[in-house]
Amino acid sequence: MKLHIKIKNNPYYVYIDELKNLNLKDFNVFILTNEKIANLHLNYLLNKINIKNYHIKIIKDGERYKNLKTIEEILNYMFEINLDRKAILINFGGGVISDIGGFVASIYKRGIKFINIPTTLLACVDASVGGKTGINNKFGKNLIGSFYQPQSVYCDSYFLKTLDKRQLSAAMAEFIKMAISFDKECFEFIKNINPDDLFIKKDKKLLNQIIKKSVLLKSNIIIKDEKESKLRMLLNYGHTFAHVIEKLSNYRIYLHGEAVAIGINMANTLALKLNILNKNEFDDIKNLLLKFNLPIKYKIKDCEKFYDLLFLDKKTYDFNINFILVDKIGNAFIKNDIKKEYIINTLKDFT
Ligand code: NAD
Repeated sequence: MKLHIKIKNNPYYVYIDELKNLNLKDFNVFILTNEKIANLHLNYLLNKINIKNYHIKIIKDGERYKNLKTIEEILNYMFEINLDRKAILINFGGGVISDIGGFVASIYKRGIKFINIPTTLLACVDASVGGKTGINNKFGKNLIGSFYQPQSVYCDSYFLKTLDKRQLSAAMAEFIKMAISFDKECFEFIKNINPDDLFIKKDKKLLNQIIKKSVLLKSNIIIKDEKESKLRMLLNYGHTFAHVIEKLSNYRIYLHGEAVAIGINMANTLALKLNILNKNEFDDIKNLLLKFNLPIKYKIKDCEKFYDLLFLDKKTYDFNINFILVDKIGNAFIKNDIKKEYIINTLKDFT
């Protein structure tokens, strides 16, 4: 199956379970991955795709390595082997690898082509599509980066077999986010999923359905607003809070999707306080997050500090935070005129 991402000037396909058709024998290929994925799946990848000349760069595993130091390490290696500008970079891994590798591809010799081969469900449903690349720094998450689209994306459910329950549930947070923001029917579809089919059976048909639905929802937004001037901000529902949680925990305690689940619950608590969201839908969303084993609670130690950190979000303009809220399931919107007292009151619910 292939899905056409019709981004103006940079259209490409997301292929689902068609890895065997990837033919790169006429290119120099640079594979970026981490130690864990290399051990688990590199041989399968090399056997499956048609590839002749390649180099592999294996980096350390973890969000805390999504930083400038790692970028420099990768670039140095590319220069050492004198990788040419016609080379293709393959990001083989989860969202951390595609964010790092996409950024490297966008700056190496002013830009080379890249392909994403996601190995986590989160990267299949979200990170590998849409061309947002980036890294963290001491000021916060994803603050350095570029918009740079891949040539193509190959999602193969084979890789997802080795994901544990926690990783799968973190991915569901991003999928649930998409459904709450844009598509009530999709929300109902998720409600009807038997978690055992995902967590235990890792049912291939179900995984591919989840990937397809999520990619279609996301692409529908990004083709209208590739560089996040407005509409695309809606994809960040839950993220304004999540990024602060990730930063405060030094990217060590929560998986990104877990932080997003807490962030969704925080955004909804704010919407409830503002009488924007009703209690029934608030509970419906909370229960769906819990059904997929996602955290919704967090202990804020210092509300003022948390509040200040919200302003480091990329969606802050003129000292106004663009909060993404929903007034009903399937309808996300931007609200940027929320008084501090409402935000602090929301944060106090999480102390
Ligand atoms: P990740 O890349 O850190 O992967 C999670 C863990 O799973 C890692 O330990 C990884 O080594 C391991 N792993 C990867 N593939 C595996 C496999 N097949 N079997 C077993 N283990 C495997 O994290 P993630 O959850 O994939 O992605 C989160 C990142 O994606 C965050 O940095 C987030 O900011 C970013 N993100 C980016 C976008 C975007 O649009 N660019 C969207 C959403 C998330």
